[in-house]
Amino acid sequence: MALHTATAIIDLEALSNNYRLIRSLSPNAKVLAVLKANGYGHGLELIAKALPNADAFGVARIDEALALRAAGIVQPIVLLEGFFAKEDIDTLAANNLQTIVHNEQQLAAIVNANLDTPLKVWLKIDTGMHRLGINPEQLLQFYEALSQSKNVQQPIVLMSHLGCADDKESPATKQQISLFDEITADFLLEKSLANSAGVLLWPQSHHQWIRPGLLLYGVSPLQFDIHIDGIAPVMTLQSSLISVREIAAGEAVGYGGAWISEKNTTIGVVAIGYGDGYPRHAPNGTPVLINGRRVPLIGRVSMDMISVDLGVQSKDKVGDIATLWGKGLAVEEVAEFATTIPYELLCNITRRVHIQLAK
Ligand SMILES: *Cc1c(COP(=O)(O)O)cnc(C)c1O
Repeated sequence: MALHTATAIIDLEALSNNYRLIRSLSPNAKVLAVLKANGYGHGLELIAKALPNADAFGVARIDEALALRAAGIVQPIVLLEGFFAKEDIDTLAANNLQTIVHNEQQLAAIVNANLDTPLKVWLKIDTGMHRLGINPEQLLQFYEALSQSKNVQQPIVLMSHLGCADDKESPATKQQISLFDEITADFLLEKSLANSAGVLLWPQSHHQWIRPGLLLYGVSPLQFDIHIDGIAPVMTLQSSLISVREIAAGEAVGYGGAWISEKNTTIGVVAIGYGDGYPRHAPNGTPVLINGRRVPLIGRVSMDMISVDLGVQSKDKVGDIATLWGKGLAVEEVAEFATTIPYELLCNITRRVHIQLAK
């Protein structure tokens, strides 16, 4: 007997289709495919190799960039938060990595370095999200310092990040886009603003480089719209039933006896838990697919298991497949039950989850 334990089934054809759809939404822009956090939990190298036409890749940490180079990835790789220590600059130059610059410390480190090969730099401006980026008033000073430095490959790219792009009605996004356009109007440089939500909702944010992450993986970044035509989930998270048992009305299930059955029923136990990245806060009623049927999660999520109510007439057996999210059950929906966002569910997938290609 070999039961299927927690497995993320990765559909690379869905990834390619999503990529093509994104390109068609912004036919004149280049694509920086965002692969941070282990390719949003899908497997960093696997996803990078499956996107041979991406114009660049974006990561958040230098280790992610080095792992991509070690895997033989030759496309440009951009560190989306820049580098954190000035010693990293030599590593960037040696591995042909591009960096964002968003503060004075990074600027000084680059200008004062002694590099054989100049670095490609993306200058990040804060247009209203107030997380990373230089103030608009600093643009000219940073631009001049970077364009005069022998350590910088010309021309630089100008970028900013949208804080509310997932909300179609957001006045903040309109303000960010117009501020960006106004302050960068005199610079004949490549520009970049759009994340996935920007790609979908804000064509005026596309400029020369779009930066999709979540949408590549077939998941909607939008607040109120989880269905996007032509987009299909890349990850389907599955495991199997390891126990099927009958219980009587009034009996409690799981830690703390937190769920008590109102009727005689059949309880299934699925081999997945928060140790695999299934959200511990998923409440009673969170849907799980068993044999194509939605059944409710019951009781507390354990480290290695969850329980579901299969119902009194259930014919499900030990070994049957359970789908936690993906094809047939949107991760967006599970995220809503767990009061989080699909981004978090995907990148919380832990190392013990097998990654397997869809057949
Ligand atoms: C993560 C990230 C993105 C991608 O965001 P999605 O919402 O997943 O498309 C784009 N740009 C930057 C700077 C990021 O950090």
